[in-house]
Amino acid sequence: MADDGSPVRQRGRVTLQTPLRDVVGARTATPLAAKLDLATVGDLLRHYPRRYERRGRMTDLAELVVGEKVTVLGTVRSVQERRPRPGSKVRSMTTVVVSDGSARISCAFFNQPWLGRLLTPGVTALFSGTVGRFRSELQLQSAQVAVIDDALGEGSQRIESLESFPGGVVPIYPLADGVSLTLVQRAVKTVLDVLETVDDPVPDVLLATRGLTGLDTALRDVHRPPSEERLDVARARLRYDEALALQLVLAQRRAAARRYPAVPCPPRPGGVLAAFDAALPFPLTDGQRGVGAQIAEDLSGEHPMHRLLQGEVGSGKTVVALRAMLQAVDAGRQAVLLAPTEVLAAQHARSLRTLLGPLGRGGELDAAPEAVKVTLLTGSLTTRARRQALLDLVSGEAGIAVGTHALLSGGVLFAELGLVVIDEQHRFGVEQRDALRGRRPDGASPPHVLVMTATPIPRTVAMTVYGDLETSVLEGLPAGRSPISTTVVPAAEKPAWLDRAWQRVREEVEAGHQAYVVCPKIGDDEPAAPGRAARRATLQDDDEGADWADGEGDGDGGSDGGPEGRRPPLAVLDVAERLAAGPLAGLVLRPLHGRLPPADKDRTMRDFAAGEVQVLVSTTVIEVGVDVPNATIMVVLDADRFGMSQLHQLRGRVGRGSAPGVCLLVTEAPPQTPALQRLAAVAATTDGFELAEADLQLRREGDVLGTSQAGRASGLKQLSLLRDRDVIAQARADATELIGDDPDLAGRPALAALAASVIRAPDQEFLEKS
Ligand code: ADP
Ligand code: MG
Repeated sequence: MADDGSPVRQRGRVTLQTPLRDVVGARTATPLAAKLDLATVGDLLRHYPRRYERRGRMTDLAELVVGEKVTVLGTVRSVQERRPRPGSKVRSMTTVVVSDGSARISCAFFNQPWLGRLLTPGVTALFSGTVGRFRSELQLQSAQVAVIDDALGEGSQRIESLESFPGGVVPIYPLADGVSLTLVQRAVKTVLDVLETVDDPVPDVLLATRGLTGLDTALRDVHRPPSEERLDVARARLRYDEALALQLVLAQRRAAARRYPAVPCPPRPGGVLAAFDAALPFPLTDGQRGVGAQIAEDLSGEHPMHRLLQGEVGSGKTVVALRAMLQAVDAGRQAVLLAPTEVLAAQHARSLRTLLGPLGRGGELDAAPEAVKVTLLTGSLTTRARRQALLDLVSGEAGIAVGTHALLSGGVLFAELGLVVIDEQHRFGVEQRDALRGRRPDGASPPHVLVMTATPIPRTVAMTVYGDLETSVLEGLPAGRSPISTTVVPAAEKPAWLDRAWQRVREEVEAGHQAYVVCPKIGDDEPAAPGRAARRATLQDDDEGADWADGEGDGDGGSDGGPEGRRPPLAVLDVAERLAAGPLAGLVLRPLHGRLPPADKDRTMRDFAAGEVQVLVSTTVIEVGVDVPNATIMVVLDADRFGMSQLHQLRGRVGRGSAPGVCLLVTEAPPQTPALQRLAAVAATTDGFELAEADLQLRREGDVLGTSQAGRASGLKQLSLLRDRDVIAQARADATELIGDDPDLAGRPALAALAASVIRAPDQEFLEKS
């Protein structure tokens, strides 16, 4: 029977695709569709219980908050019938006081006089409703009630019955306004009663290999768990489905890329790459050679490369990228290197020119014939310089262009774009990569794409956020790399250590080296002056690290007291002033942060690179890629405000030369706190991959994905990036296999439907926002 009283006409079988309305009737289906976006039987069955309640394990009455929708399990203590005032529309009012053993709450029911006869003292029932206040006491309002004790006999039929299972287990679903628990439970029950055995989209062989239960069993058990064990088995299967759906989508994207044509860029003997290799002052590491060969092969192919290159800080990714770019240039194409900020773009342009030496002077009079021209294009160029740069790009004069991500938009034209290298910091999402994948507006073939992450990333992140890319890991560090020793300086308990830290900075500087002092914040918080606002507007996305609250440091301080009671983070401007007047008096100090005009930033970086600035007091704007081998010591202030991976990346700025690097993590975090433990972990290992995993463990994964919002609304309900690494890896392998040469899954419609049903719009967004 449908809830609108008419017998449901079931035309044929009820499957996951059947519209809910055909099974449960319009009155139930309408709110489910409107409020929870559940349109089909499959949608409803993938609306899994959020949790399972059991006697004695409901929301604690003591923890109720006004305005919350709750379900409590309680025992009736007293019942009171009240006569309404004469003339009132209310015919009867029943007040029931319920206790869960610790606290009490009253529930008021109107015009349901029979409740008073069922809910006699001692009866145990589930009450769900909204917590309100009545005469200063908490009251459960518009409550629904379901009696759990079976011993109530006939009369209980008059009560909407919530389902309960052996042991009194009650599935509790995510609800919405106008969608009660009872409504969802009844809909699920109705659907499960008539559902045909569900066809399994995953081939039996695969289920057997992965030790998974069938979808039919899993869906039924997750809604009506016969036992803990069966529930675990069901959830494992549903988790796998989510991982598989996600990986199918990603594999589809990878496969789609393979279908596009690309202009092959095979290596050319006697070209600029050969000349570069011959002039290289150091031998390539084995890792650089191996990954380089792989990329060279990709570039030679007839379809675009889409590869992720990750490697330890300092492993020499730039050289790998440059060699790829030179191969493209040798093939008569242009290459673009994109950085997340203008500082980095400028830095990259500088280091490419340095690495190239005379080979980077293309276009100049006495340049070698195979030399290439490196053009920097950023928002801060003068109009004239910008016009020249644009001309270099469109004429093909510039073999290599360097800029921020804005370079790919805003009407910048290339003569023959062959390769895009993205040196990124979680900024370039799948969507943007997808845009690169399609044909270019001018009809040219899509370019090859190489994405480089700044630091090692956890495997699950590589497989999801970057899952549309083939992955390479650059192993090993260049020979002669100096070790970095990291020490935690507990400034509060041991002020003498802090003094010693500044003394160490002086010693390094006196020995001819340079130092970084890193602070979480810029300072100077007064509202931006108009002039500055205007300058800010030209900074584009160059502001990373401008304020710690925007960076990943936020929230990482964790449990040491929260924002109140914590002094404000140390700021570059204050610290620079205080150091100059105090412990570092007499040294050449200069502040650097994202809010400086680009020209100032650039000059500061240049002066630092040239050794004219001895101590750079900076925000995390130096986090990525900045390469000054003569800098040997880094002091990170308020180190507990930074993420572990971020600290690892930061300290990678020292120890790049022949002298050993020193990193001092200054913190006031009290001993024994998680904040201090994180710092200790950073000090204890220099393995970036290990730290990335540890970092993931310590953060909410929503933060990692940058999607705490989308993540919640998404179809990824069971899957966890923290826990389910193995499942994701299995699903990735399986998806790749299943897709084979059929990216549209035309031959496997059930799998296509799985991908579509689990990965709905929000999840695509989830990938794109990350
Ligand atoms: P990252 O992988 O962190 O981006 P970089 O590409 O900035 O590292 O390289 C760090 C430093 O190591 C640079 O100064 C670079 O010139 C140098 N380098 C790169 N490859 C080698 C090598 N094979 N031998 C010695 N030094 C190298
Ligand atoms: Mg780099």
